[in-house]
Amino acid sequence: MANGISNKSVVLSDIRKSYGGLEVIHGIDLTIEEGDFVVFVGPSGCGKSTLLRMIAGLEEVTEGEIAIKGRDVTDLDPSERGIAMVFQSYALYPHMSVSENLGFGLKMTRTDPAEIARRVAQVSAILKIDHLLERRPGQLSGGQRQRVAIGRAIVRKPDVFLFDEPLSNLDAELRVSMRIEIARLHRELGNTMVYVTHDQTEAMTLADQIVVLRDGRIEQAGSPRDVYEDPANMFVAGFIGSPR
Ligand code: ADP
Ligand code: MG
Repeated sequence: MANGISNKSVVLSDIRKSYGGLEVIHGIDLTIEEGDFVVFVGPSGCGKSTLLRMIAGLEEVTEGEIAIKGRDVTDLDPSERGIAMVFQSYALYPHMSVSENLGFGLKMTRTDPAEIARRVAQVSAILKIDHLLERRPGQLSGGQRQRVAIGRAIVRKPDVFLFDEPLSNLDAELRVSMRIEIARLHRELGNTMVYVTHDQTEAMTLADQIVVLRDGRIEQAGSPRDVYEDPANMFVAGFIGSPR
């Protein structure tokens, strides 16, 4: 924040969410700085996905405002928000090749075919899937499919990447190597990343900033070190301190 100029990527102001009259997100305020890797962590059902889906625009907020890069996006469609989301289930198009899966979003926005080819080549090289471009998703391993899903997000050059437990369907060994890849991607691309997990180790190793959630409220937000060494309460101490 040099010269007092803040570089805010995502700002949540008193966000609330109710389903059928029952409030599950209870007034969240959070500022995410440009280029930060922020991890939402907390037990199942605490509201991580709901919060991420509201940032993405896949879920309406009941109350509050969301700004991305200084622009109020609260009422904008997902495609207008400058974000890309990677889900736990890969949701690749089974009848399309890897190359077509990667380029599909760009084709929909009528990007020039030569530019699509250039970006698909670039992204597949970064993710080391350039030898798989002609295959169909059914001919890929779980880790390869997840790389394609991440590639599909990167290729659109979003301002903000949103990840919802992207590794939870992978086996333990693959989870570790993909975690290292995601950290490397963040270093190389420098984008803001908001990453949801219930896994404390993932949170501690990936995050610049950890946001610990419980029952739709922020218990603590800070660097992994702050949260670990100076937990705000017993819940945070127990959750971060004890590996599952
Ligand atoms: P997490 O991702 O942390 O596991 P969620 O955001 O999925 O948690 O859910 C937060 C709370 O909201 C939970 O109590 C869940 O049951 C509730 N919830 C989520 N989605 C819906 C929905 N579509 N309808 C009703 N309740 C929902
Ligand atoms: Mg979830």
